[in-house]
Amino acid sequence: MKKDCLEIVRSKCESCTGCALAKTRKNVVFSDGNPSTAKIVLIGEAPGEMEDETGRPFVGRAGQLLNEFLSNAGISRDEDVYIINTVKCRPPENRVPTEEEQSACRKFLNAQIDIINPRAIVLCGATALKTFVQLDKKQTISKVRGQWMTINVDGKDYRAITIFHPSYLLRNNSMADGSPRRLMQEDLANIKNEILPDIDHSMDSNDVVFMESREIAMV
Ligand code: SF4
Repeated sequence: MKKDCLEIVRSKCESCTGCALAKTRKNVVFSDGNPSTAKIVLIGEAPGEMEDETGRPFVGRAGQLLNEFLSNAGISRDEDVYIINTVKCRPPENRVPTEEEQSACRKFLNAQIDIINPRAIVLCGATALKTFVQLDKKQTISKVRGQWMTINVDGKDYRAITIFHPSYLLRNNSMADGSPRRLMQEDLANIKNEILPDIDHSMDSNDVVFMESREIAMV
């Protein structure tokens, strides 16, 4: 059911010429993840070069780093997370999407959130945060990240939290206490505990097969 609804949105998105980014894109980057099992919607800024080439979000170096952090926190990118961006087409030179572009693309973003109906929304980086929250001058992403809040999307409230964008972490390698990478690790552990306490990926399918065969051998 969710997949069918999303396919309708995807097909509209793929033929969209609602802003100037349609002229320079190679592919519309609609989403990644399993809509039937995802409990979290993770929202990034915009597709980059690799994403534009492949049509999938978060597949470049930043995406690989995100995969590592998710996996280490016990969050499955394939099962638990539905990944989207504030705009579906790549801004030239990877610039930040303009307010007009974000506004033109907002209907797709809102529709995706509504269909997935997640337990929580994870805002990945400052652009995603500013799409939903008006910040005052003292509020930087460093101060806001890691704090649970409520955001309203088309009249419905969702729990939400902000994390650093992994591209920022590519430039900050330290895992020392208080470093961006350490804070990212803590934020994802917080998200896992709060939103996915009932989900355990510690046993993969090979473990299950192994255990079943052991039980059969013991009978
Ligand atoms: S970024 Fe969004 S609004 Fe702009 S052309 Fe792509 S799909 Fe349409």
